[in-house]
Amino acid sequence: MLLDALGGATEGAPASREQVIRVHDEAYVDSLASLDRETWLDGDTIAGPTSAEAALLAAGCAVSAVETGGFALVRPPGHHALPDRAMGFCLLDNVAVAARHAQDALGLTRVAIVDWDVHHGNGTEAIFREDDSVLFVSIHQWPFYPGTGGPGTSDDTTLNVPLAAGAGDDQYAAAFSELVEPTVRAFNPDLVLVSAGFDAHELDPLAHMSVTEHGFEELARRSAQLGPRFAVMLEGGYNLATLPRLVEAAIRGFDAG
Ligand SMILES: [Zn+2]
Repeated sequence: MLLDALGGATEGAPASREQVIRVHDEAYVDSLASLDRETWLDGDTIAGPTSAEAALLAAGCAVSAVETGGFALVRPPGHHALPDRAMGFCLLDNVAVAARHAQDALGLTRVAIVDWDVHHGNGTEAIFREDDSVLFVSIHQWPFYPGTGGPGTSDDTTLNVPLAAGAGDDQYAAAFSELVEPTVRAFNPDLVLVSAGFDAHELDPLAHMSVTEHGFEELARRSAQLGPRFAVMLEGGYNLATLPRLVEAAIRGFDAG
């Protein structure tokens, strides 16, 4: 349904082992590949024999998105995945794989990741917390799953913007004006990667924010203006009836940015 809503999409290829182990432990990648039956990897995350292939395809789309300035329309999402384990529907951290590929293969040194999925991107934060070449910015509902990213958790290259349940277009726009845009511009990135979740939408069943379709278009437009190059990864968004038009709205925004 999502792909039907879009023209011009191309199929991705799986990420290589080399690309994935820049971010994840080899033993964990091997364990994913060896699943021979449906297995709960955490309380929310089920995986089975075809999951490693799906996760590698998603990460590979993230890699090609960063090469082409594209939008990786993928599932499973990635931003909760930790170096050594799956979490919150996420198996491999697609945006983190893309960021490392940009640095190691494309020579883009300074990478800013802007995550406006409604949940805190704890996996991406954990991967880059000690790495000052990657700025991680997350706007999210808090307190909420996964519990991280609350007040007082930012540092020089981590900006967490926790927002109370119910926040909508105005609060997100203010967070961009007051915090996200000045922080990303001061970092002076070579590349901006967007973890674009759509679960902050007013009709999303998993969260409690009230961002509108127009609000996502604005977030996309403003995100595209933050660096000389950008690419986008789909994260969450769990109302399958609204997701296609929200993605279309974001693409309009990215194109206008
Ligand atoms: Zn989410």
